[in-house]
Amino acid sequence: MSEDRPDSAALADATRLVEAGRRKQWRSVPGQPGSVVNPPVWRASTHLYESTDDLAKGRPNADGHFFYGRRGGPTQWALADALTELEQGAEGTELFPSGVAAIAATLLALLGPGDELLVCDNAYEPTRNIAKGLLAGYGITHRAFDPLDLDGFAAMIGPNTKVVMLESPGSLTMEVSDIPALTAIARERGVVSVIDNTWGGPLGFPALTHGCDVTLMSLTKHVGGHSDLMMGAVSAKAPHLAMIRRHAQMLGQVVSPDDAALALRGLRTMGLRLERTSATAVEVARWLSARPEVSAVLCPQLESAPGHDLWQRDFSGGCGLFSFVLAEGVDKKARARLIDALDLFGIGFSWGGYESLALPLDPASLRTIRPWPPGIDDGSGLGLRLAIGLEDAGDLIRDLERGLAALGET
Ligand SMILES: *Cc1c(COP(=O)(O)O)cnc(C)c1O
Repeated sequence: MSEDRPDSAALADATRLVEAGRRKQWRSVPGQPGSVVNPPVWRASTHLYESTDDLAKGRPNADGHFFYGRRGGPTQWALADALTELEQGAEGTELFPSGVAAIAATLLALLGPGDELLVCDNAYEPTRNIAKGLLAGYGITHRAFDPLDLDGFAAMIGPNTKVVMLESPGSLTMEVSDIPALTAIARERGVVSVIDNTWGGPLGFPALTHGCDVTLMSLTKHVGGHSDLMMGAVSAKAPHLAMIRRHAQMLGQVVSPDDAALALRGLRTMGLRLERTSATAVEVARWLSARPEVSAVLCPQLESAPGHDLWQRDFSGGCGLFSFVLAEGVDKKARARLIDALDLFGIGFSWGGYESLALPLDPASLRTIRPWPPGIDDGSGLGLRLAIGLEDAGDLIRDLERGLAALGET
C-alpha cells in the first residue's frame, strides 16, 4: 500500500469499501495539486516509454507499471487493488472478462496432465462443463464429491489429486458446506483449495481466512450490481497468484477500463445493497416457508433452513439469492404459471443486480451423486430460484402471492 492510503486492515468493511483502490497516484496528474474522487477511465493499448534505454530496462511483471494495454492500466489496477484490500489474506487479484473465464484460467493454471480435480457435486454448472469439456482435453481428470460428507471427501483424495473446487452455498440447491473442515483435509494432503465465492464474496465469507488457497468470484453479480457488466476476479497469496497471473497473460485475458470503472462504482455501494437484499431475502423466505404451496425454503440466512448453523458460524453476511421447493403435486405447467404471473420478478439468468429475478430450477440432471436436499426434482417437488433485488419486501411478497394463486388455475 502506498503512503497516502490509510491502513485498510484497521478499517471496518463499510469504510474499506469507500477507500479501497483509491491511491492518489491513480486519481491525480503529476505536478498538479489536488485530485479527483474516482480513478479515471484510462483507455490505452499502447503505453509509452521515456527512451530506448527505458524500453530496454523493461518493467516489472506486476500491476501498477506501464507496459502494454494487455496488462491493464490505472483503472484496472485500481479495481484489482480494491478487491485485494477487501479480500483478507490476499496478496493480489487478477481480473477476467467473466466469472467463467476466471474459473477456467485458474484451473488450467493449477492443474497439468495426469492431475485430478475434485469438484463439489453442487458446483456451478459451467464449472463442471469446464472440467468435462476443457480440462479433459489436457489430460486432467475430475470426479465429483459430496461436499456434506467430510469422510467421503477425505477418502477420495488420491496421489494425483491436486486441486479441490469448492462452492458454498452450492449453486441452485444452496447447501452450506463446512469449508474450514474441507480445506483442512485438503491442506493436510497437499491439495490446493479453490472456492467459487460468488455468493458470499469478501464481505460475507472471507474465504482465505477459512482455509481456502484461492478465492474467485463473478463480479458480474454483486460487484457490478446493476446487470450491465460482466467480469470475474481471482484473489490469492503469492505462489498461486503468480501461476494464475502467468496463465491469464498467456491466454490474453484483459478487462476494459470502462468496465473496470463500472465495477469500481458498483463496489462502493455493494455493502449497502447486500445488507438490503439479504434482509429482504430473509423476509420473503420466511413468508414462503409458512405457505402450504411450499415444501422447503433453501435460504441459508433463514433459521429453519438447512445449513443455517454453518452459515451462522462461518459467514458474516448473505445476499438475495435463494431457492425454494414447491409442495408435492405441483407440475411443471403449474410452476410455469406461477413464474409467468409475476410482475416484479424478471425471468433471466444471472443475479446480484438491483432488480429481482425468478427461474425454474431442475438440478437433478446436474448432480451425479444425489440431488440435495432430497425432494428436489425427484418427483415430490419442483424448485424455483429467486434473486431478490432492492424492491420493497411487501411488494415482492404480494407479487409472489399472485404467483402462488396462479398455481391452482388451469
Ligand atoms: C454467474 C456465476 C459464475 C459465472 O460468472 P459470469 O460472470 O457469468 O461468467 C460463476 N459462479 C457462480 C456461482 C455464478 O453464479
